[in-house]
Amino acid sequence: MDRQIQSKRGVEKFTYNGFIYVFDKCSKGDDSLKFWRCERRGRCNARLHTRDGNVLKETANHAHDSSVGGVEVAIALTNLRKLINNSIVNVPPAAQACLPSTSALRKIVRRKRRQIHAVPANPINMNELILAERYKIYQTQVGVDESFLLADNEEDQRIIIFGRRSWLQHLQVSNTWYADGTFSVTPRPFYQVYVVLAERFGGVHPIFYALLPNKQRNTYHRMFQMIKEAQPNLMPRTINCDFEFLQLLRIIFRKPQSTDVFFICPKI
Ligand SMILES: [Zn+2]
Repeated sequence: MDRQIQSKRGVEKFTYNGFIYVFDKCSKGDDSLKFWRCERRGRCNARLHTRDGNVLKETANHAHDSSVGGVEVAIALTNLRKLINNSIVNVPPAAQACLPSTSALRKIVRRKRRQIHAVPANPINMNELILAERYKIYQTQVGVDESFLLADNEEDQRIIIFGRRSWLQHLQVSNTWYADGTFSVTPRPFYQVYVVLAERFGGVHPIFYALLPNKQRNTYHRMFQMIKEAQPNLMPRTINCDFEFLQLLRIIFRKPQSTDVFFICPKI
């Protein structure tokens, strides 16, 4: 895959592992060695060294998660620009006046996108819910996959947990977690989406999203058990969560009362 892309203004960019880098400069005395900086300059110090399109070195960790969607969009837009330029460059001026309008072109793209990304209908009940393989995988870049389905209890009280498998290690080393549920974005037939974020690399990152069938205590218990099975030895020092979870989390993560460092906060 061509990792080199171009922005609308012609700025040279490079994609790697779900991150986008902007061209900075070439090495003095070695034009083939290129230096790139993360496109979120100012907030992220990550940099990349490449030679002839191959990555030699990454420096510093990113202060944010990767964005496969963002990378794919940037690649698609670059390809689209190339395609349009190549298609139009040889069209005589008289014929150019007859080209479809911007809105007509937009409609063509939209129609095609709907065909490619047709989403299955929402299931009426849990028994009907069968996860397609493409929803179980997280693709950092074309050809590089990791598991995105972390756990599915497949029980009557269905709990499904999504998140990048590789990011569970951040949960393990992070001292501070943030946990809360939300209802408004929850797809039926689930009742709520519960999210756990972790502090890491100077930022706070979402680690997993759990679809829960209700807000019963044993459901939360089961959810955290499932996460512990997916990533054993989790020992958070601080969890910012609703007061009602304190006792439950003490049990799950075996925090002796005396060394308890859990904090409580209102809604995230
Ligand atoms: Zn970055």
